[in-house]
Amino acid sequence: MKINSEQEMLNYGREFAKKIKFPMVIELIGDVGAGKTTFTRGLAEGLGVKEPITSPSFTISKSYALPNNKHLVHYDFYRLPDPGLMLDDLNESINNKNTLTIIEWGNTAIDILPDDRAVVKIEYTETGGRNLFFQ
Ligand code: ADP
Ligand code: MG
Repeated sequence: MKINSEQEMLNYGREFAKKIKFPMVIELIGDVGAGKTTFTRGLAEGLGVKEPITSPSFTISKSYALPNNKHLVHYDFYRLPDPGLMLDDLNESINNKNTLTIIEWGNTAIDILPDDRAVVKIEYTETGGRNLFFQ
């Protein structure tokens, strides 16, 4: 799917929110600046998050309360070459039936990501837009 602007990515995330069934794990794949966090922002807004969504690359994870006792936990392992104890944290999130787990740069945690996760890949296009597809 062709995503031409930040606004379109936010809109796509908001639409995607309608398809979420808890629990769910989404792995986001794409280069720095591809739009993984932007997609997550739209998705979170679509799920009813009112607070601002910021990149968790320094804090590694951020948790947001959703309506109906659900949670969105957003991970970014970019700055974590060795995830160590964070794997326990991630595992807990994955196994919580009320949680949508989203992970950026999840390759170092690949062994604990469930096979039935959604994998969304975002690539730059030559014209400066983005191509988004499911792997
Ligand atoms: P990532 O989390 O993949 O590193 P971000 O979502 O933080 O990326 O940043 C994406 C950046 O690219 C933002 O500054 C956004 O404004 C810009 N951008 C430009 N075009 C697009 C697009 N089509 N989709 C998403 N982001 C875009
Ligand atoms: Mg990001």
